[in-house]
Amino acid sequence: MIGFDLDEEHRLLEQSVREWGARDVAPRVHDLDRAHEFDRAIFTQMADLGLLGVSVPAAYGGAGMDYVSLGLASEELEYVDTSLRVILSVHVGLNCLSLLTWGTEAQKQLYLVPQAKGERIATYGLTEPAAGSDVRGLQSVAIKKGDAYLLSGEKQWISLADVADHFLVFAWSDLEKKQQRDPSGLTAFIVERGFKGFASGTMKEKWGILAGNTGYFTMDEVEVPAANVLGEPGEGFKIAMSALDQGRYTVAAGATGLIRACRDASAAYAKERRAFGVEIAQHQLVKQMIAQMESDYQAARLLWLRSGWLKNEGRRNTRETGLAKWFATVASERAAGDAVQVHGANGYSDEYPVGRFYRNCKGGVIYEGTREIHTLMQADYVLGYRSDRPTRCQLPAYDASE
Ligand SMILES: Cc1cc2nc3c(=O)[nH]c(=O)nc-3n(C[C@H](O)[C@H](O)[C@H](O)COP(=O)(O)OP(=O)(O)OC[C@H]3O[C@@H](n4cnc5c(N)ncnc54)[C@H](O)[C@@H]3O)c2cc1C
Repeated sequence: MIGFDLDEEHRLLEQSVREWGARDVAPRVHDLDRAHEFDRAIFTQMADLGLLGVSVPAAYGGAGMDYVSLGLASEELEYVDTSLRVILSVHVGLNCLSLLTWGTEAQKQLYLVPQAKGERIATYGLTEPAAGSDVRGLQSVAIKKGDAYLLSGEKQWISLADVADHFLVFAWSDLEKKQQRDPSGLTAFIVERGFKGFASGTMKEKWGILAGNTGYFTMDEVEVPAANVLGEPGEGFKIAMSALDQGRYTVAAGATGLIRACRDASAAYAKERRAFGVEIAQHQLVKQMIAQMESDYQAARLLWLRSGWLKNEGRRNTRETGLAKWFATVASERAAGDAVQVHGANGYSDEYPVGRFYRNCKGGVIYEGTREIHTLMQADYVLGYRSDRPTRCQLPAYDASE
């Protein structure tokens, strides 16, 4: 049987995030964006709403909600501002859910619990100056020394880099495999900001997601205990990719919220603005743009909901999540471009939110697999060059009793 209704818990979450966003955040977004300011108070409020551990079991400090709830929260947050959804993507999607999937009990107690409660901020450090899409091109290394590893390297374009407390970091622990570009030489580490040799900074020249912190960090022989290896040594690539299944899911649902924001702003403006003696909403070409936003919104939502359902079932969803992310982010770029168009010259000013939507949407087309990488992936699934086998990469299925 197929059902498309949200249950009571989903509706309550959707409503509470929507109300909080409209009341407490939306009136401030323009100023935070202009000031390039990450507001820690917003992070605290998200913790109070249970969002920072939304799909983490209660046993590990989370809200114990299912994965559809994570998607709903992502959609509602990005409806207000992309910077809010990015917090959920890196903190919950890429970090907390990786610890839940791969962590030892001790790692979960030490790192996941305070993160899920919102007492600590966490993020994900894969990208480097010389390697983004090409993960095998990473340069960071981890040299084993006794019961620890010495990590050296630089990560950049890292969301929350300058504000996070914990980092999921990927580095080569096997230097021979690094030479051969064999990803089974990569290892995942949990790194704390306070570890000696760690330093971070904020990127100043960014032109989108301005109310969010994006930065870099450097590691100069940072001593990381072997107990902070996530999974097994050599499983870093697998962990990085499985994390992306959850991060991409939040990006897909978030971009869906951005399309809805474009649609709503455009519809309101089109009924206000007059040209040629009628409100511009009466002109068919304006209607066409709004209709496209509506169809993109509905299709994007169905795609991420399917992906959330697969996650709840504990089923592999790399293909479906990739498709949802690719479709929604490309559609959000179309919607944001058209939203500016509907607003005419006013859309080109900072007075209306659509200019911010236009700047923010582009990030989603780049991070967590660029448009081109997702295009290749989807073609390869169809062509049979790629297939998903159920593996340990899977997130634990949702268990309502937990
Ligand atoms: C706002 C923002 C936040 C981010 N946050 C994080 C974060 O928290 N953590 C993190 O680790 N990273 C983060 N990133 C980095 C992001 O994941 C990378 O930018 C992304 O993976 C692309 O890598 P790149 O920028 O090095 O581009 P490149 O990989 O250099 O690609 C450049 C261009 O070449 C194309 N290309 C590359 N390879 C191929 C190919 N095989 N076939 C066809 N085309 C190809 C790409 O599609 C792209 O158009 C963030 C980026 C942004 C913009």
